[in-house]
Amino acid sequence: MNIGPEPVTAILAMGIEALARLHHEANTVMAYGQRHRRLAQTQRKDSPMLRATCHCGKVEVQVPRRPRALTNCNCSICRRYGVLWAYYRDSEVKLAAPEGATDAYSWGPNTQKFIRCKSCGCVMQWRKHAVDKKSWTGVNARNFDPVQLGDVRIRLLDGAQTWKYIG
Ligand SMILES: [Zn+2]
Repeated sequence: MNIGPEPVTAILAMGIEALARLHHEANTVMAYGQRHRRLAQTQRKDSPMLRATCHCGKVEVQVPRRPRALTNCNCSICRRYGVLWAYYRDSEVKLAAPEGATDAYSWGPNTQKFIRCKSCGCVMQWRKHAVDKKSWTGVNARNFDPVQLGDVRIRLLDGAQTWKYIG
């Protein structure tokens, strides 16, 4: 084998070419990753609405976006219902149901009312009795399609005693 100055230069040149190719591939992969992330963000922005439906399908609650966290509360009513709450402004949420399809329960005039489907009994939402622009509402995330809901953090609210998040 001739190990003169020419082959060495050739080998070096090959090395540089290979490096350039690798660099180009790395850039392509990075560009793909950025494009992919941008696309994922766009899709999240473009498909904002999520529907919570009761079991029989008569009652639907529409929310403008996926919740960032859900609340599992241990108060006397939430633990019985076994619900997970997603919170929104009341004005952002739409309850879509035929007239007379829902029932509500509340144990006092100053507490929330819990709205459920009259036919299948699924708890859909709590609302305040007197709603204004700043009012919050809780939507039962158990009624969302789990695939559309995706992975969402669940926080534990000690509604039974301290009203603090404990997990
Ligand atoms: Zn129903």
